[in-house]
Amino acid sequence: MNQISVTLPDGSSRTVPAGTPVRDIAEGISPNLARAALAAVVDGKLVDLTCPLQQDTSVRIVTDKSPEALQLYRHSTAHLLAAAVTNLFPGTQCGIGPATDEGFFYDFIVPRPFVPEDLEAIENKMKELAQQDLPYERQMWAREEAKAFFAKRGEPLKVQLIDEKTEGQKEVSCYTIKDKETFIDFCVGPHVPSTGKLKAFKLLSTSNAYWKGDARNAPMQRIYGTAFFSEKDLKAHLTQIEEAKRRDHRKLGRELGLFTFHQWAPGATFWDGKGTVLYNTLANYMRDVLFPAGYVEVKTPLIYNKALWERSGHWSHYRQNMFLIESADEETMSLKPMNCPGHYLLYASTTHSYKELPIRFHEQTPLHRNEASGVLSGLTRVRQFSQDDAHCFVMPEQIGDEVERLIRLVQRVYGDFGLPFTAKLSTMPDDHLGEEATWRHAEDQLRAALDRAGLAYDVNEKDGAFYGPKIDFDVTDAIGRKWQCATIQLDYMQPENFDLKYIGADNAEHRPVVIHRAIVGSFERFIAILIEHYAGAFPLWLAPVQAIVLPISDRHLAYAASVRDKLLAAGLRVELDERQEKINFKIREAQLQKVPYMLVVGDREAADGTVSVRSRTGGDQGASSIDAFLASAREEIEHKGKLSAISAQPSEAQSVVAES
Ligand SMILES: [Zn+2]
Ligand SMILES: [Zn+2]
Repeated sequence: MNQISVTLPDGSSRTVPAGTPVRDIAEGISPNLARAALAAVVDGKLVDLTCPLQQDTSVRIVTDKSPEALQLYRHSTAHLLAAAVTNLFPGTQCGIGPATDEGFFYDFIVPRPFVPEDLEAIENKMKELAQQDLPYERQMWAREEAKAFFAKRGEPLKVQLIDEKTEGQKEVSCYTIKDKETFIDFCVGPHVPSTGKLKAFKLLSTSNAYWKGDARNAPMQRIYGTAFFSEKDLKAHLTQIEEAKRRDHRKLGRELGLFTFHQWAPGATFWDGKGTVLYNTLANYMRDVLFPAGYVEVKTPLIYNKALWERSGHWSHYRQNMFLIESADEETMSLKPMNCPGHYLLYASTTHSYKELPIRFHEQTPLHRNEASGVLSGLTRVRQFSQDDAHCFVMPEQIGDEVERLIRLVQRVYGDFGLPFTAKLSTMPDDHLGEEATWRHAEDQLRAALDRAGLAYDVNEKDGAFYGPKIDFDVTDAIGRKWQCATIQLDYMQPENFDLKYIGADNAEHRPVVIHRAIVGSFERFIAILIEHYAGAFPLWLAPVQAIVLPISDRHLAYAASVRDKLLAAGLRVELDERQEKINFKIREAQLQKVPYMLVVGDREAADGTVSVRSRTGGDQGASSIDAFLASAREEIEHKGKLSAISAQPSEAQSVVAES
């Protein structure tokens, strides 16, 4: 028989007969590995363990430690879900069942919508099927035979999927669980070898859906679930979901009186007084950080002639996301979805010497992007927002220094919010613009900058934009969710498009490189992250109301007002609760509003010229002179979020990727 050579990740190789299933390779390495095996990567492609090896090849066995394992595991759990549903509800039509960042879902056409009791029954059926440890079997069917089979079963959606996904193929893959009577699905795979591998899963909710997400198509019922390799991880995730609900920024935004929305301005925020204070505090904080770092704040127009977008390339690639405006002279105009082109025009409006570089523009004016109404959600997906957006114009030899400065800014800003973060470097993609040598030079400078800043980072090979490499940063919030925020993106293309130049030391014209960068990103989205990170209990420097004066009775009102006025004059954001309510009621209300300090004043305080300080977290702090309270408040404000950084460390098991 024909022998083939199989290369393993450690570089060793072995010779086996052609047609050997990959499972036997795992078995040959060790019985433990064979037991832990879920799938395999053969010549870079994820396959089932039953996949026969036909030629010389490289093989890596996938276990629950492998990066691709969780997705495979969750998708396999989606099949288990479909098997349970079709067994319990005969006549159900199956749609698609992909894994997601948080778990999986499956869409069905069912005679009636699911109710909560159905979920329980379905989950129990899934457990039953898992306990029986039934094999997932890949069967190759003649394409026409498979189509006829699903058509006869009354599953036109599967027929449509086969048509769309397997054009030109003679055979298509169908997967059974146990046998085709128990469950069969058209799917390209791969899957775990048997249902017994699926140890910890939970169905979470149902929702209405449409075939292919299009409301003109058949209405469907979507079941969401999640799956982990262990009960412990599953439990941690479910706790995190509960905690996320409690911290939901849309709920807290309403309760704390920060912002609201109206259907007549979809995706645009109405910031209430307190929300505006929060927003401006954040915006001014970024100004305070950027000014000494050599940035120039600029304001460029919001509306541009479409000629600009044609030049930048947005007209051909991004127009569907832009709000178009018909102006009086009938030229098509558009609201800007980003600041970059405006900054190029501003840069190009004068000549620049190499001595001026780097030139750093930052801008906080509003941007508009026409997000589909279906995806709008609170502050995280909006149509109108502002960014701490900046563009640095540098000479190629300045890239390393500038990026290092940027990384240090990122470190400082996230440190101030008590947000741990990770970095990833994305390198040259296959379809890139420009010379490979230019790319490698830029990538080397980015790596060196990351190293000098002492930052550990992952590398996403070939994941850069086609016009330059980039570094992305994910922050981890207090409940372990990751959010992508900062980005540092090199751009060699737009300086060409906009004919940007500087006069070099040689007196000749040269092209600068543009670095697009944002640290917090959209202020709206970052505020959503902060609200959920702090659960609405902002550190003193960010709190819209930093202290509230609570008179015990009416006769203390005058003194209470004088305390408020003194603190207001000193620059603190202070309110006075003048209502004729019991002091305990007022304290409880202030506590619910998450005001950091409650200053209770009664007879003794009025006589001594003091306040009784209650802190949101520490309860009664005793009497304090107004000056002493002010001094300690100022010190705490100076510290920003660094104090809370200690409590904001995520517990390891909870770290998952959040939808962004
Ligand atoms: Zn599948
Ligand atoms: Zn930009």
